[in-house]
Amino acid sequence: MPVPSSTAGGPRQFHPHSSRKSNIEYMFGIVGIPVTEIAIAAQAVGIKYVGMRNEQAACYAASAVGYLTGRPGVCLVVSGPGFLHALGGMANAAMNCWPLIVIGGSSDRNQETMGAFQEFPQAVRTSIYGRPGSCYIDIPGDFVNLQVNKRSVKYVECCLPPPISTAEHSAVSKAASIIAHSRQPLLIIGKGAAYSHAENNIRKLVDLCGLPFLPTPMAKGVVPDNHPNCVAAARSTALQHADVIVLLGARLNWILHFGLPPRFRHDVKVIQIDICAEELGNNVRPAAILLGDISAVTKQGLALQKSLPMNYYTVFHHIRELIPKDCILVSEGANTMDIGRTMVPNYYPRQRLDAGTFGTMGVGLGFAIAAAMVAKDRTPEKRVICIEGDSAFGFSGMEVETICRYNLPILIIVVNNNGIYTGLDADAWKEMLKFGDPATCVPPVSLLPNSHYEEIMSAFGGKGYFVKTPEELQNALKASVTDKQTPSLINVMIDPQSERKKQEFPWLTRSNL
Ligand code: ADP
Ligand code: MG
Repeated sequence: MPVPSSTAGGPRQFHPHSSRKSNIEYMFGIVGIPVTEIAIAAQAVGIKYVGMRNEQAACYAASAVGYLTGRPGVCLVVSGPGFLHALGGMANAAMNCWPLIVIGGSSDRNQETMGAFQEFPQAVRTSIYGRPGSCYIDIPGDFVNLQVNKRSVKYVECCLPPPISTAEHSAVSKAASIIAHSRQPLLIIGKGAAYSHAENNIRKLVDLCGLPFLPTPMAKGVVPDNHPNCVAAARSTALQHADVIVLLGARLNWILHFGLPPRFRHDVKVIQIDICAEELGNNVRPAAILLGDISAVTKQGLALQKSLPMNYYTVFHHIRELIPKDCILVSEGANTMDIGRTMVPNYYPRQRLDAGTFGTMGVGLGFAIAAAMVAKDRTPEKRVICIEGDSAFGFSGMEVETICRYNLPILIIVVNNNGIYTGLDADAWKEMLKFGDPATCVPPVSLLPNSHYEEIMSAFGGKGYFVKTPEELQNALKASVTDKQTPSLINVMIDPQSERKKQEFPWLTRSNL
């Protein structure tokens, strides 16, 4: 098996013993006159040959190899009935957009009229460039048994890996803005995404933007089925209610009910990402079209998403990736506690303490101190991590002195949006002060912008970090998780207007509480 590259969209690597030049590794087929020698010759150059019982199955096998490895599998057939049997597999590969090469042996060249015949490397290229698909090579019988001097055989250079195309920049921005303004977005992940090795990028998009997703049957596992954002169990509801659908390498054919009502909303906005221009706009008129390789295009999307300031989902994504699974989580705040509850999983019982039944703010640091004391005596390997909104932290911030006095290695993360629910950024704050007395114009939800809460920690000898970018956040998290001795506080600045996703059920919106 070729070793699939772990970096999505990166060049894939192949086994050193794969066939000469073209990296063809597998051939499936049934031999007969005149193609037997082709199978023998293939084995001689290191191609693994699997003799099957029917060309149709051989062709299905070869096409699946193409999908799994990104290099076409070969199906070897005799002319006439053998080739006819292979047609089912060729059509299946063409419909699936999977690379495949079928080699057939026909009668000798002097027995029929032939046009120029497609040479081997060209077929490899055709099968994997652009939209992948099936190709057929017909080798005349007399050609198979032609005697040549071995030394005169020239191997044609392998074609370059398929070129990776990115989408137009403006189309990516348009798609991002459509998603940002959506109420119920849905990613549909298709097998094109699987083929493109886009799993890492798609996973990041799902996590960073908190997007729900639905895999098509063969795209299951691109993002694991047990991911909390997987809506497969509520497929019909998800399709019916989505106001924006992002199609990642999936076609609006019968599998997706043609993208039409009643399975979809009349006014659904479709963002289509596909490598094949002809596919764009099939059945529905898309709101945005992104022509390009899924892995590359999702990377473009991530680059946009990385723009600052961070939002809650970005912050919790990094926290979730970097904190130990068995840590004791303490949390309080409004959005911070609510979004953190879905974004940061707990794996063990009795290891989450939060505002509780009474919805009390100010409990966090006391809870964290208690958890650290108990952990010290019973489970010293467990870390206590306290995730606080900036307002919630203020209720008992001076307990940081207690934490330092007893040298409890608690990690406090303050998710700071300059306010209660939402706040103002420094510029808006300055503008606002022009209106006069702060007591009459400062919004009651606002707290002082860019407050350096981490300095409370450093004031008492712990470590304080002020972070604004995902990289700074990652570094601070890594340093404070590794340092098991020192109390630390990471003050994470996020977009003051960052909000949780819109509530799906109207009776649950804040005005109705
Ligand atoms: P599913 O059956 O999972 O819905 P489809 O076969 O309908 O998937 O759609 C797969 C789509 O993926 C095709 O339209 C194909 O052009 C596209 N595709 C294949 N490879 C890539 C790639 N590397 N980047 C983008 N799109 C791709
Ligand atoms: Mg806040």
